[in-house]
Amino acid sequence: MIRLAIQKSGRLSEDSLKLIRECGISFISTSSKLKTEATNFPLEILFLRDDDIPGYVADGVADIGIVGQNVLVEEGLQQLSVKNLGFSKCRLSLAVSKGDTYTDVTSLQGKNIATSYPNLLQEFLTSKGVQADIHTISGSVEIAPSIGLADAVCDIVSSGSTLISNGLREVETVFKSEAVLIANQNLDVEKNRLLQQLLFRMEAVQKAQKSKYVVLNAPNSAIPQIKPLLPGIKSPTIIPLAEEGWSSLHSVVNEDDFWDIIQKLKEAGAEGILVVPIEKMIG
Ligand code: ATP
Ligand code: MG
Repeated sequence: MIRLAIQKSGRLSEDSLKLIRECGISFISTSSKLKTEATNFPLEILFLRDDDIPGYVADGVADIGIVGQNVLVEEGLQQLSVKNLGFSKCRLSLAVSKGDTYTDVTSLQGKNIATSYPNLLQEFLTSKGVQADIHTISGSVEIAPSIGLADAVCDIVSSGSTLISNGLREVETVFKSEAVLIANQNLDVEKNRLLQQLLFRMEAVQKAQKSKYVVLNAPNSAIPQIKPLLPGIKSPTIIPLAEEGWSSLHSVVNEDDFWDIIQKLKEAGAEGILVVPIEKMIG
């Protein structure tokens, strides 16, 4: 049995649960429970405050966990990181009051900065040769300037709308973060085998999310032009249509190049293009 720690409730919770389910693991979760066991995989899930997850994994209370890189690095436990998970993307930014003059990071010299991430902030300021007074508070950082507690803040941002609604202006990115899978560094052979199984499944899920299955019809004369646009996993599948002189082509396309390829396919004479999501992708 392997023990996984995830956030009980917050910005990481929903996507963490979704990832476990997409790995084909079933479990019953009720919001009041602090732990649950999967029904079809030797996995126990612990629901914790996100700040506690790196420490619990480092100590072996949990074997593996899902947490934001911001919290992991703030706590000095980045060596536990195993895999970036691509969700809960955000950044730790410095912001000043909208009306304040700000030229560059040296404008913060000698200022009071409120944050919940004193270590990440200190490291950033040191790297820039700036000295400031860091005021560590655990929440509601963004109101600090308006109540006279600080001159600037260093806080988590995704869209930036919370900063704007508090009369703040984002001026520097201190750290970029996303969710990561972390693991205890002394897992026994059996737990390590289970971790490798989970990683294999996560990779299949991630690859599938980045890919689309494309089906289209084309006159045979257009195939030489279309084929190089659809490299697929090995090469596209080409099947003759019932209508003489036409074929159906099937392939896998990467999400990043998707619209570009669709445009070129149309120009090359493709018709009836279907785009289908892929659930899992192996190899
Ligand atoms: P807890 O009660 O578990 O301590 P919390 O209030 O400290 O929760 P959340 O606000 O739920 O934490 O954020 C958890 C993590 O999600 C953050 O550490 C960060 O990695 C990420 N995160 C925070 N805000 C955002 C956002 N606006 N968009 C995307 N990800 C975010
Ligand atoms: Mg927290």
